[in-house]
Amino acid sequence: MVDRDLSHKLFKTAKEVIPGGVNSPVRAFKSVDGEPFFVKRARGSHIWDVDGNELIDYVGTWGPAILGHAPSVVIDAVTQAAKEGVSFGIPNLHEIEIARMIRDMVPSVEKVRMVNSGTEATMTAIRLARGFTGRDKIIKFDGCYHGHVDSLLVAAGSGALTLGKPDSAGVPADLATLTITLPFNRPEALTETFEREGENIAAIIVEPVPANAGLVFPKEGYLEFLREITKKHGALLIFDEVMTGFRVAPGGVQEKFGVTPDLTALGKVIGGGLPVGAFGGRADIMDYLAPDGPVYQAGTLSGNPLAMAAGIAQLKEMERQNGWERLESIGQAFEDGVRDALKQVGRDLTFHRIGSMFCLFFREGEIENVDDVKKCDFEAFGKFFWAALDRGVYFAPSQYEAGFISLSHAAEDVEKSAEVTLEALKVALA
Ligand SMILES: *Cc1c(COP(=O)(O)O)cnc(C)c1O
Repeated sequence: MVDRDLSHKLFKTAKEVIPGGVNSPVRAFKSVDGEPFFVKRARGSHIWDVDGNELIDYVGTWGPAILGHAPSVVIDAVTQAAKEGVSFGIPNLHEIEIARMIRDMVPSVEKVRMVNSGTEATMTAIRLARGFTGRDKIIKFDGCYHGHVDSLLVAAGSGALTLGKPDSAGVPADLATLTITLPFNRPEALTETFEREGENIAAIIVEPVPANAGLVFPKEGYLEFLREITKKHGALLIFDEVMTGFRVAPGGVQEKFGVTPDLTALGKVIGGGLPVGAFGGRADIMDYLAPDGPVYQAGTLSGNPLAMAAGIAQLKEMERQNGWERLESIGQAFEDGVRDALKQVGRDLTFHRIGSMFCLFFREGEIENVDDVKKCDFEAFGKFFWAALDRGVYFAPSQYEAGFISLSHAAEDVEKSAEVTLEALKVALA
């Protein structure tokens, strides 16, 4: 038995002063029927918990750690920036530099504004779309998660799904009526909705590769269809690339699939591990924001010099190391290991991967949207999760979460992970 005594004691203490003991629900390990471990430190692809257990990490702080944990380039950049002041609330040079980088990397972005989380980014993108079009309704897809924004906490993924509460208490029913939720990958549903009330729809918001309900791919032509139908009806198309941006390619899914939205929400990787989000897009839409336009948005700590420096350093290092290409080959090696393990246990479980993101579904057959994910064997997933953790590999503690590979995942990490995957599959499927 792996010793997690200290973590257990700390969790008890945490629950006395923090709701559920955590500052974000999925960290509580509820969907795998257990308790979280407390981290002592993390470096590269490894995490050490407070009880002294060492883990190979495939969560990567839920996406941001694309170089691995605590990369020296990011630590140096943050340290250097801190010496000049930790926050100004006055324009600073880092803000222009990161804005230019984002504009150059992300196809849809002509102008960009920095915020402090992905939630802030999607929240404001929605407000901006409503302000710009003068329309109130938005369309989102079942299982797509866009942060804990009131109007987007309807049929949301991951944390909300994990808790079995797709709709949060505290979201007014009147507000929820302005959010239309449809199944992903089903164009007929959209055609029907736009024919019925196209003139009321401000925007479609979508994770172009949904990564908060497992990991789901758009069917051939689906993203192009979203682009066409929004254009036809005068609605905006918003890509939520908080997870996929700077991850599946420098310019995200929109670069990889060649479909350009009107607005894009960003976060995670761009903060280098510090609290950052961003949203950007067409200049004529972005200029609707205050101070030049009528849509209000603000932030005391937005454009924070430490966060900007961390993001700039992380993206530069990715470019310097040819990071996206290297991640593809590490991802391929990881995939080979998983597929080989599946063959050895004689099971054809569905495995999805795009670059450095992956998901192993405890189910055979096609996964096209969250309805398919709901049919997974969650009990087997839970057994798999704990068996892997006990053997030194930390996968995300929910079937609804994707896994993340970093540039720090070395060949021996990938090899050990394949061995552990095989052992854990044997336990889970026994
Ligand atoms: C994580 C995530 C968000 C929310 O970002 P936070 O920084 O957690 O507020 C929004 N959209 C997607 C697709 C995400 O993965």
